[in-house]
Amino acid sequence: MDFEDGKKKAGGFIKEFKEFAMKGSVIDLAVGVVIGGAFGAIVSSLVSDIIMPFVSLLVGKEDFSSIVFKIGDTNFPVGNLINAIFQFLIISFSLFIVIRQLNKLTPKKEEAPATTKKCKYCLSEVPLEATRCPFCTSELE
Ligand SMILES: [Zn+2]
Repeated sequence: MDFEDGKKKAGGFIKEFKEFAMKGSVIDLAVGVVIGGAFGAIVSSLVSDIIMPFVSLLVGKEDFSSIVFKIGDTNFPVGNLINAIFQFLIISFSLFIVIRQLNKLTPKKEEAPATTKKCKYCLSEVPLEATRCPFCTSELE
C-alpha cells in the first residue's frame, strides 16, 4: 500500500465517521448521556444528603450499611444491598417523575390525515377526491 492509497483510505474513514457523528440520533444520545450523568449526581446527592439523614433520624442509624447478618463467623453485609435497592427505587421514582413532566410539556404530534395525492403522470400534489389532474389534465382513477 503506497502513501497516496493510505491517504485516500483515511479520508474515506474520516468522512464516514463525520456522517455517523452528525446523525441526529448520535447527538441526542450524547446529550442524553451527559444530562443523565449530571442527573445521576443530583439523585445520589439527594439520596445521601437529604434522604439518608431522614432515614437515620427515623432508624437511629447512619444508613443501612451497618446492618450485618451473621451465620457462624461469616458476615453477610445485607445493609449494602438494602442501600443499593433503596437508591435504585429513589432513582427510578425520580426518573418517572421527570419523564412524566417532560411528556406533559411536549406537545403531542398528531399526524393529519392525507388530503392530497400525487398525480402519477406529472407528480403534482392534487386533492384526494380529484378525478382529473389540474396541472396536466390527465384522468385520475
Ligand atoms: Zn398531473
